[in-house]
Amino acid sequence: MTSVASLLQSARAAGVDRLDAQLLLAHVLQRPRAWLIAHEDAVLDAQQLAQVHAAIDRRAAGVPVAYLLGEKEFHGLMLGVTADVLVPRPDTEVLVDWALELLAAAPAGMEVADLGTGSGAIALALKQACPSAKVCAVDASAAALAVARGNGERLTLAVEWLDGHWWSPLHARRFDLVVSNPPYIAEGDPHLDALQHEPQQALTSGADGLDAIREIVASAADHLRAGAWLLLEHGHDQAAAVCALLRDAAFDAVATRPDLAGLPRCTGGRWPG
Ligand code: GLN
Repeated sequence: MTSVASLLQSARAAGVDRLDAQLLLAHVLQRPRAWLIAHEDAVLDAQQLAQVHAAIDRRAAGVPVAYLLGEKEFHGLMLGVTADVLVPRPDTEVLVDWALELLAAAPAGMEVADLGTGSGAIALALKQACPSAKVCAVDASAAALAVARGNGERLTLAVEWLDGHWWSPLHARRFDLVVSNPPYIAEGDPHLDALQHEPQQALTSGADGLDAIREIVASAADHLRAGAWLLLEHGHDQAAAVCALLRDAAFDAVATRPDLAGLPRCTGGRWPG
């Protein structure tokens, strides 16, 4: 069982998707995935075999492919990821696109903050698409911030990285746009079983999942300029609650946008000042 074809077969038997197995195999062999298809008979050496078997076992145990490959594409950027950061999700591109629309309609040099940046995905995507924006990104996890900073350096995107909890490292600074994909899953939600390899502090937030969003909204008035927007990703069943939080805090133009599956996923409002 040492050829490409037989390894793909045994991965399948272990319950690993064919695409995932191909990606893992291609990663170990440092070949493009297409190479595997033309080289089904290629034989791996002992070290490659051990690496492939280890990766397939971890994938079969539910470890996200992104952690095994050490990278994940997000909004056209290849980001380094480790188990210290949430795997960037395509659904979060909706938040990025909304933010970019707002930046495109604003003068150059807007000041933007990304709260709970994780891998830096949102901050880096915004800086890449809108280089004139001054982007800073905050995370309470030093390990996550190290991943984010590494991504910024590799992509040569100048983002200011700040260590701390939500607004706290920003002191009295005010912004034109603030974005966040905070943890929003309720503690004990059965959905978490499938996410056990990702950092729980990036996923769960209190009994109803809304603690982080409440905390962000509660201090937003101290950090937004008049006319600034706050955009928040949230759970598919939290749109009404997040709209109410923003309206109660005196935001206007409150609106929700759907994710790629058509589920309400991102809610924002404008700070009247
Ligand atoms: N969208 C993720 C999921 O449900 C959760 C991300 C988050 O809590 N910010 O898989």
